Amino acid sequence: MKTDIRNINTSDLEKAVLSYGQPSFRAKQIIEWIWKKGNVNFSEMKNLPAELRIKLDLDFEFKPAAEKEIQNSADGTSKILFNLYDGNSVEGVIISMSDRVTACISTQAGCPLKCGFCATGHYGYVRNLDAGEIYDQFVILNRISLRSTGKPLTNLVLMGMGEPFLNLDNVLRAMEIISSPKYLNFSASRITISTIGIPQKINELTREKFPYKLALSLHSSIPEVRKKLIPASVKYPLEELRKSLVNFSKKSKNHITVEFLLLKGVNTSEEEADSLVKFCSVFSSKINLIVYNEVPGLPYMRPDDDEVARFLAFLKRKNFVVTIRKSMGRDISAACGQLANKSKLVN
Ligand code: SF4
Repeated sequence: MKTDIRNINTSDLEKAVLSYGQPSFRAKQIIEWIWKKGNVNFSEMKNLPAELRIKLDLDFEFKPAAEKEIQNSADGTSKILFNLYDGNSVEGVIISMSDRVTACISTQAGCPLKCGFCATGHYGYVRNLDAGEIYDQFVILNRISLRSTGKPLTNLVLMGMGEPFLNLDNVLRAMEIISSPKYLNFSASRITISTIGIPQKINELTREKFPYKLALSLHSSIPEVRKKLIPASVKYPLEELRKSLVNFSKKSKNHITVEFLLLKGVNTSEEEADSLVKFCSVFSSKINLIVYNEVPGLPYMRPDDDEVARFLAFLKRKNFVVTIRKSMGRDISAACGQLANKSKLVN
């Protein structure tokens, strides 16, 4: 059986190259083809001897994610369906604004967390994506952005399908490659990793000096409400989560983006707004309110405009930095919480 070459480390690749009777610097050349040029075909690695390319092809393979379908929204947002080697698929989104082009990518095929409002959670979970599949989404979305807007991606958010902290090794490996000056040289400060908030992982990343931005999907800071929206959150008490965020923001000197999805009649009360203020008062934050986009088959509804306005006004009175995320791509189900409507999952 062939080995996926993108899943082996440099020293194993060097050993393989030496076993073919080639000098070890060939491994560096291969790595550059793979991660700097995004190549997934040995026959195109033109600075390698032909005999080496043949040997590599016999022992190794690539399992790339490939662009399958693009849907374009009237507002300029595009949703891209990626096919994976095993027949599964995931989705990514490009959001183009006047001053930035943001890509949103997936980290898992499906998601095990089953948040009540989310199409991805509703569809179940199959597997983690490997680092190469996460990397491929970035490379393909950058290519599409250049083609359609004439501009490269300026920001990357890991907010698509899946909980990145449940696939942290692969996520961090992919981000390291994307941000490394040796490979794609995309600024680490323009990468945001979004999580429902797993305190142990946040503590681990605080110790390791995480260079990326952190976004927390909070959606409620009242335990009973949060438990309904994010059932998995019962394992991570809010107080413990808050402590980990305090340490993270102190060490990283970065604010944490707190994502709060507004759901009609569920989490838009003054009590919720007050609880949110208290939760965020002890660390540096920016609150991002997201007006829910309804997902067929799920019980939640978009809030009324005055519900949203009241919630926003409460936070502003308390002097929080707060924005309402403009909803993009609703007509193609590319908005927050809507991904996976058409994705295929194969168990
Ligand atoms: S909101 Fe995120 S963590 Fe929750 S089910 Fe959806 S993809 Fe998973």
